[in-house]
Amino acid sequence: MKTSFYQYTLKELKELFQQNNLPASGPGLLFNWHYKKRKSEPCTADLAKKSIAYVAQNLTFDLPVIDTIQASTDKTVKFLFKLQDGQKVETVLIPFNNKYTICLSSQVGCAMKCSFCHTGLQGLARHLKTEEIVGQFTESQKWLTQNRPEDDKILNIVFMGQGEPLHNFDAVKTACEIFLSQHGLSVADQKITISTAGYLPGLERWKNEMPDVNIALSLHSPITAKRDQLIPINKRYPLEEVLKYVQAIPQGKNRFVTYEYLLIEDFNDSDEDAHLTGKLLEGKTAYISLIPFNPFPGSEYKRPKIEKVEHFKSILDTYKIPTLIRATKGDEILAACGQLNSKVPSVPDQSPF
Ligand code: SAH
Repeated sequence: MKTSFYQYTLKELKELFQQNNLPASGPGLLFNWHYKKRKSEPCTADLAKKSIAYVAQNLTFDLPVIDTIQASTDKTVKFLFKLQDGQKVETVLIPFNNKYTICLSSQVGCAMKCSFCHTGLQGLARHLKTEEIVGQFTESQKWLTQNRPEDDKILNIVFMGQGEPLHNFDAVKTACEIFLSQHGLSVADQKITISTAGYLPGLERWKNEMPDVNIALSLHSPITAKRDQLIPINKRYPLEEVLKYVQAIPQGKNRFVTYEYLLIEDFNDSDEDAHLTGKLLEGKTAYISLIPFNPFPGSEYKRPKIEKVEHFKSILDTYKIPTLIRATKGDEILAACGQLNSKVPSVPDQSPF
């Protein structure tokens, strides 16, 4: 059976070539051709004849296909990708100073069932394969270069789309290795962030197995009863345990753990909530990202007023924890945090293309 080229790290591809007695230069040439030169057609440049034959017989180069595109007036772009088995996932390009952050999905749907998240309501259909994660990047990049050549740089990768990345640890890890590879996509390590709801089995593996990328934890409340209600896996993987592992991840210079705090009106936005959060994170290498709740069809929670969000931040400031309010982008096309759901019919296409 053929396997996907895009599932291999350079090291794995080298092993495959070695096992098949093929010239050692092949994997580097293939990485250069498909990732650096961004070519989709078969590689011919300098590749030995027997390597060309092996590749043709054993590897596939199929990638997820863009099914629909929605672009919002703030330049956010949401792609719905169709996978080979017909499943669909979303990927979002978020503009930032003429460059983009790409928000990748790691699963079709999600098993975590967070009560505030549109994807959570969809349930888990399946994990994404490495090549389906890598493909979201390469195909979005190709689209940008073709459609917005003047600003086609993707600077940051965040695993904040559909799914719990640490629930699909192996595929996410391998995809990160491919993103980071100097011969591959050459993304800098401090430019990749994996966001987790606190999935402990993955956090336990992080320190020894995950390449050097940033971690973000969805905190949302330091109070057990509230966090339980928002993130049901908190009952199984309590915050105290989760924090132990998150805070044990080695942080290089200028590295911070990001704590995401979703703000919901009259639920977790009081002064007391802010003080307890401040006390929990005071003195840590922490950075807080405040995310005002993004509503979606049928959601019961409400977004607090901006004054309330700023007041919450001002309390955190007194604990000297750097805090940023995350700007909402793409909400008119349901592309903002927590609004992704590939099963719900999308709002009418607003694409100018
Ligand atoms: N499973 C990962 C990635 C999910 S999405 C995690 O839980 O971290 C990335 C961020 O968006 C998470 O912090 C998530 O809690 C947040 N989010 C989910 N639904 C949201 C919503 N409706 N409004 C705002 N943020 C939301």
